[in-house]
Parts: sequence; structure tokens; C-alpha cells
Amino acid sequence: MRILTIEGLSDLLSTPKKIAIIPHQNPDGDALGSCLGLQLLLSNAGHHAQVIAPNPFPHFLAWLPKSEDILIAEDQLESCKSAINQADLIATLDFNHLSRCGVLEPLISEATQPILMVDHHISPADYATYMFSDTSASSTSEMIYHLANYIGLETHINADIATCLYTGILTDTGSFKYPNAGSETLRIAANLVDSGADKTKINALISEQGSLSRLKLMGRCLDSLEFLEEYHTVYMCITENDKIASNFQKGDSEGFVNFGLSLKGCCFSVIFIENSEDQSIKLSLRSTGDFDVNQFARDHFNGGGHKNAAGGKINTSIEQAVALLTSLLPHYKESLKTNATIYEN
Ligand code: 5GP
Ligand code: MN
Repeated sequence: MRILTIEGLSDLLSTPKKIAIIPHQNPDGDALGSCLGLQLLLSNAGHHAQVIAPNPFPHFLAWLPKSEDILIAEDQLESCKSAINQADLIATLDFNHLSRCGVLEPLISEATQPILMVDHHISPADYATYMFSDTSASSTSEMIYHLANYIGLETHINADIATCLYTGILTDTGSFKYPNAGSETLRIAANLVDSGADKTKINALISEQGSLSRLKLMGRCLDSLEFLEEYHTVYMCITENDKIASNFQKGDSEGFVNFGLSLKGCCFSVIFIENSEDQSIKLSLRSTGDFDVNQFARDHFNGGGHKNAAGGKINTSIEQAVALLTSLLPHYKESLKTNATIYEN
């Protein structure tokens, strides 16, 4: 589904404005890539744009152009408040509901300025003045590329902006592997390469600059892997002990959930990550085919996302969270069986 109600946005941006740009809590490559891409685009066009993240971003994204200028609300709440209060426009990127922006939620929901939403998650909430929602888009970064055209700023796309947007597309499509990366996405990625995105370098910065703590954690995570063959399901756990033993850094577990899908006969992979700070378990869920993990996360784990990639959170022990998952699987047996594609050679 596609909603594009941005009439008046170009007029608003016809004179220099202050713009606050907000990604979701625990920002990923697409959230940061789209926010920084939009910030650079608007800055190039004479505006003053500031990215304000609800909480810190993973270190594997800290090389993104202008990431050093991001304000982090959990660390600098007063500066963030004043930047939001002074803004003429608030842009919320890569999320569909204000509950996804953590400590910034009350500030944004009480804001009186116009809000621009750009997002590709399903069921967008109705809070924005200007809305660009496209659930078929590969990523919010791809949508920022289109937005640049809609508001007449496409000629401002330079190498730094192309780098940010390419990174968002790359990370949200699993390096162009997932079905959400169709020919249109590949064409846009090619245009971004023409505009100066260095695809080899970006890939290396994302995937080949890992830390020792990440590799150690990977070992422990894979060791916990269980394959429930009957349900074509894999689950893995990362406990607080695993984090301590591996010297865990934020972002270290990024992408681990996908390992499950590399197993022949698996179409559903779940990782449970213990978080002692708020006594919760964070889940990441991935699937192949039509097994809808967005619906599964919404129905059982207070979460959501996309059909093949979703997240959730539950306030139980990790054992109880695993027990809940395993108790649910029999209800999905047929669907899981249908979606477990086995390619015979
Ligand atoms: P990840 O597993 O990488 O954290 O998230 C996968 C996808 O699900 C992302 O698009 C992310 O925005 C979404 N997602 C992750 N956690 C939650 C959650 O708690 N609620 C909702 N609605 N979406 C989530
Ligand atoms: Mn995204």
C-alpha cells in the first residue's frame, strides 16, 4: 500500500527551515542511512537539519557521513528537546508509530509543528501532516531517493548522500537478497553508485570490520541454536552471561538471526536477547516465503515489522519466552511446512 500526501511540503521548504529528523529506537542501517541522507539533502538545499536518535546507534554504523553530529536523546535530552522545540518541521523516518521512538515519544506526540512521515512498515499510524508511506518499498532510504525527486532536490544528491541511502538499502534488503529488492531497487542502487556511493567500501565497512566481541558472541549464539525440524524453525538465545563473557558492544548481535535461515529446511528463525536493563527479552524474527513474522510478532510478542523481518519484546525470563514460542508452533505447523522451500539439485 502506498500513501503519498505531501502537498504543501515543497512550499514549506521553499525558504530555509529548521528540521528535526527522528529515526526509531535502536536505529539500524536503514533508519540511520535514511535520516542522514535526508539531513544532508536538506542541508545542501540551505536548510538546517539535525538528526536526533532516541538512543545510541551501533558502532558498525559510526562511519556514516555526519553520524558524529547525531544528537542522542538518552544522553542529551535537553539539547534534543530544544532542537525539537525550535524545529519548523519534524521528520520521522523508518517507523510507523510514535511508540517506536522511545524517550522521544512524548515530545513528538505533543509537538505542534507539522510532521513528515517517511516509512515502509505496514499499518502506519495517522499522526503526520505530510505522509509518504510505501509498504512495498525495500527501505526508507529508497523512499528518500524518491522524496528528493518529489520535492525537486534530486540534483543535490552527492556522494555522501548516495552513501547513506545505499547503506540503508543494502542493510534492509540483506545485501539485495530479500524479495523486497526488486528491479526498481537495483536501478536506484545503481544510480546511487553513479552518484558516488562506493559499493565495495560500504560493504566492507558494514560486514568486514567486525569486532572480536562480535565473533565471540556469534560463537556462543550459534552454540545455543536449536532446530525444531518438525516446525522448520530455528531459535537462538543470547543471555546476559553471554554478553558479559564476550564483552558485548551494542550492535554485536546484528544479523545473527539470519543464520537460522541458512539451514536447509528452515523457514522461521528467532533470536531471544536478554536485556537486564529493563528486565525484558528482545526478539528478532525472520522468515522466508509467506510465513508472516510481522503478524506473529504482533499477535504474540508485542512487536511488528515486515512480513519476513520483525521484532518484538516480552517481559518474561528467556526460558519463558522460548516456552511461549515452542507452545505456539503447533498452531502454525501447516504454514511453516508450506513455506520451507527445499531446493533440490
Ligand atoms: P530487528 O529484528 O532487526 O530489530 O527488526 C526487524 C524489523 O522489525 C525492523 O523493520 C524493525 O523496525 C521492526 N521491529 C523491531 N522491533 C520491533 C518492535 O518491537 N515493534 C515493532 N512494531 N516493530 C519492530
Ligand atoms: Mn527500514
